[in-house]
Amino acid sequence: MRFLLVEDERKVASFIARSLRENSYAVDVAESGEKALGLVTNATYDLILLDIRLPNLSGVEVCREIRDAGIETPVLMLTARSLVEQRVEGLDAGADDYLTKPFALAELHARVRALTRRGFHKGGPKLHTADLELDRPRRTVKRGANNIQLTFKEFALLELLMMRSPDPVLRSEIIEHVWSHGFDTETNIVEVYINRLRQKIDQGHPARLIHTVRGSGYRLGLPER
Ligand code: CA
Repeated sequence: MRFLLVEDERKVASFIARSLRENSYAVDVAESGEKALGLVTNATYDLILLDIRLPNLSGVEVCREIRDAGIETPVLMLTARSLVEQRVEGLDAGADDYLTKPFALAELHARVRALTRRGFHKGGPKLHTADLELDRPRRTVKRGANNIQLTFKEFALLELLMMRSPDPVLRSEIIEHVWSHGFDTETNIVEVYINRLRQKIDQGHPARLIHTVRGSGYRLGLPER
């Protein structure tokens, strides 16, 4: 899952971004509406967190432009308590939900989960492939009866593979959704993480679930006969 956070206050932005990254989301930060509009036309995001009070272009204007461009990514508006009219304006401009500052991180994560489930985040709270189960709210993974401990990035990678199963996921899509914009795509980071997942998920099992699709990426599922 890859998010765009649009927030001009650097401290607030880094606080929110850090918390999201700790929950396995990849986060790009834009400090202005103009920069955000440039990014959304060049990348696919699963969620946009949009501060309403930005210099120059306001959050409401940015939201309207995003929708006018035909981009349907869920938008979570970050608003100030006193500005009821701005909140209404934000929803009218195409925002899906709003969160009033200051907010508790638990509330932010609850909204994020609700919004991402509606869109690209198909499949509900639990994903299943063969005897593998991934529980999104609990952030746990089991194969058969065995609990598997995964790091944040390993979890995000597995979640992406399970969402797309039985279809393959391109290496470039993995970089885009699990790591952030501007990540060096020449590194072998994806291969490293796939190997770690294989050790944790497939080692010792007769049926391998992670398969390399030659020249393009990876696929999760039972072996093709
Ligand atoms: Ca602001």
